[in-house]
Amino acid sequence: MPDAQSVPATGTPLALRGVERRYRTEAGELPVLRGVDLELRAGEIVALVAPSGTGKSTLLHLAGLLERPDGGQVMVLGRDAGGLPDDDRTALRREAIGFVYQFHHLLPEFTAEENIVLPQLAAGVSRRDATARARDLLTAFGLQDRLQHRPTRLSGGEQQRVAISRALANSPKILLADEPTGNLDVDTADRVFSELLDAVRGRGVAALIATHNPDLAARMDRTVTLREGHVVPG
Ligand code: ADP
Ligand code: MG
Repeated sequence: MPDAQSVPATGTPLALRGVERRYRTEAGELPVLRGVDLELRAGEIVALVAPSGTGKSTLLHLAGLLERPDGGQVMVLGRDAGGLPDDDRTALRREAIGFVYQFHHLLPEFTAEENIVLPQLAAGVSRRDATARARDLLTAFGLQDRLQHRPTRLSGGEQQRVAISRALANSPKILLADEPTGNLDVDTADRVFSELLDAVRGRGVAALIATHNPDLAARMDRTVTLREGHVVPG
């Protein structure tokens, strides 16, 4: 088998080809994704807008290498993640992908700064460099006075800003976000979303962002939706 590391990058940060996912339930098999094809070009920001229960989170988890598909391919930086063992998938995810959840998923016992330092340490960055980068990121999101706050001492908007900073900590080529402002009030959501888009555009990161909000979707480069288990133009 060829070494996956030696496959040259195609320039397409993320490509899903014929991706399938079904869940086994007591009522039988539930096919959620039935052959999803989707490409994210470098620096492209794509909105994923579809009703609840259609498979947005499932799709993002597969793209983020958090789950494995039942069929098809997930190509990250030109490498087929499907054939990789768990350790290599984890390394590829850490290097290439930032993930923002609807609920911040920050580590509660660590400060804002530490939450951004830790994934960098895991990637082999020195503590000194990781701390400097954490401070830069948090400052860019207006949180320079919140570095030592734990998540419970932050507002919802601040928590999501920290979560976005964490997703950008290892300079990913791909950012995946699952309704990242869905848990915030309208004004805060609008502001945090603008900051997210600015940060992603400014860094040339490709992004796939699930949202229910058509106004937010309209600010991205294009919109796709899920219909009967397929990704189609929105
Ligand atoms: P969305 O994010 O668009 O709301 P999800 O990807 O969370 O949709 O879920 C798609 C469908 O798959 C839903 O019908 C959901 O109930 C089902 N589903 C999600 N996760 C599981 C699971 N672990 N086991 C069984 N069914 C699941
Ligand atoms: Mg969801």
